[in-house]
This record gives sequence, C-alpha cells and structure tokens, in this order.
Amino acid sequence: MTVRIDLHTHSTASDGTLDPAELVRAAAAAGLDVVAITDHDTTDGWGPALRALPPGLRLVRGAELSCRWDGEQPPVPLHLLAYLFDPEHPALVAELTRVRAARLARGERIVDLLRADGIDVNWPQILAQAGGGTVGRPHIAQALIRAGLVATTSEAFGPDWLGERYRLPKEDIDVFRAVRLIRAAGGVAVFAHPRASRRGRIVPDELIAELAAAGLVGLEADHEDHSPAERAHVRGLAAELGLLVTGSSDFHGSHKTVQLGAFTTSVDAYEGIVAAASGVTAVASG
Ligand code: AMP
Ligand code: ZN
Ligand code: FE
Ligand code: FE
Repeated sequence: MTVRIDLHTHSTASDGTLDPAELVRAAAAAGLDVVAITDHDTTDGWGPALRALPPGLRLVRGAELSCRWDGEQPPVPLHLLAYLFDPEHPALVAELTRVRAARLARGERIVDLLRADGIDVNWPQILAQAGGGTVGRPHIAQALIRAGLVATTSEAFGPDWLGERYRLPKEDIDVFRAVRLIRAAGGVAVFAHPRASRRGRIVPDELIAELAAAGLVGLEADHEDHSPAERAHVRGLAAELGLLVTGSSDFHGSHKTVQLGAFTTSVDAYEGIVAAASGVTAVASG
C-alpha cells in the first residue's frame, strides 16, 4: 500500500476556503494518510483540526511563516514551513502575533490604494470574509472577483492588480531569526517552494546553504509553482546540503485549483521530520 503524505495545506485559519475540520475530512476523503495543516502565521486551526481528525489520518501541526531575506533591497519575501513546534513558545508567539497585525494594516492599505483609484472594494467586508483568519491577498482577490473586476484568483495576482500595481510588502520575520525560533520551539523548518520564480524573486542557493547551517531541515521540491527543472534543481541542492526533500499540494480550497495530495512527501522524509521535532507530536485519532 502506498502511503500518501501531504505536508502543506491551508484552512480558513488563513487563506484557505475549508475550515480546519472540513480540511481534515477532505484529506481523509482524498485518500491521504498524513496531512499537515500549515496556515500562514497562525496555529489557530490546530485545535479544531485535531478534534475533527478522522480515523486513520495523521495530523502534522504546522504553520507557514512569512519571512524575509535582507540580502537584497527591497528584502526578498520567502516562506518557511514550521512543523511540530511548541505553539506556546513566547518569542515565536510574539513574532506570529506581530506579523498577523502587520498583515491587517497592509491589507487595509492595499484596499485604500484600490479605492483611491475608484475601485469598489470594502475593507470591513473583506475582514468579515476572512472570518478572523490570517488576512492575505487571496481575501482581497475575492473582493476583486465579487466586484466583477477579475474572473479568477490568478488574474487578481497579475501585474495590474495584487501582483505588482497594488502589491505592498509585509513586515516579515528575518529568515535566520525564524529558523532559530522554530528550532528553539522544538520545531522543524522546511523552506517552502524555494525556486518558485514565477511568483516573484527567489533567493540564491548560497542563502539556502547558510540556512542549512543555521538549522534548516528540508526543502519543498515538488510544488505546483516549480517547473520540472526547478524541482530537479531543488532535489540536487538538498542532496548536496544533506537536507530532506518534501512535496506538497499547498492546498487552498477553491482559492487555488490544486487538489489535496497533488504532490506528496516520501515516508522517509516524513519520518525524518517527526524524528527531528520535539515541540508537539504528530497525532493520529482514536
Ligand atoms: P500574501 O500572503 O498576502 O502575500 O498572499 C500570498 C498568498 O497568495 C499565498 O498563500 C499564495 O498561495 C497566494 N498566491 C500567490 N500568488 C498566487 C497566484 N498567482 N494565484 C493564486 N494564489 C496566489
Ligand atoms: Zn496562502
Ligand atoms: Fe507559500
Ligand atoms: Fe502555502
């Protein structure tokens, strides 16, 4: 029997469209054996996902941290997946709280820019739609779709909209600090979609080598935003640096077209992550 492991998904605790309970039920229905919940900058989905965990499914509790690398100006935004960390580690909690607050301020400023150009989007309505989850551009994208200005989320991320013209930076966590905090909280850090050049600037391999020396454990290679050549490059780099390789869907419900389990992680890599963690355990129901 093949074990299917998807280590990167989003719920309504951030910018996914299934709530955490629906997410774990959908993961079981999709035939997954292990699923990670990795909402942006929050652990709010952990409790409800755990309580709803269907029999036979293992849950890896995680988060996707909004980070920045200051090696270029403006800093390059990047994402770290953090697995199985202590959700009460004070310094990490403080950093996540700060980033979520900054996301709110930035979202409202993006809406102000849109409104200044006569575009009819409404911040209180966007906040209401986000339902208390970490606010991101996908929520603003939905408002642009509701206003009939774009047809799809991808179009909303185009250069005329949230991809460039109305894109504002976030106040992200310094990536070295993030790696140290994840480790201090007993967690395991994996660099999410490190070569996703179609999304924007990417960081040089030298930085990934430095992050490996600082305690990064793995690289996400198999991801829809990587071309086959980029996936191969990431695998090669991981082999060179002694890092684990993961693959995952980065499922966002109907905010993206990708389905649960579209990309998966090997049992060996999963076991390596679990073995390296000391914050919380991977849990199975029953
Ligand atoms: P933010 O965190 O507010 O900067 O928004 C980034 C989020 O938007 C990420 O979770 C991505 O998954 C999503 N995203 C980025 N680019 C696209 C795109 N082209 N189409 C759909 N979603 C995207
Ligand atoms: Zn997202
Ligand atoms: Fe990401
Ligand atoms: Fe993600």
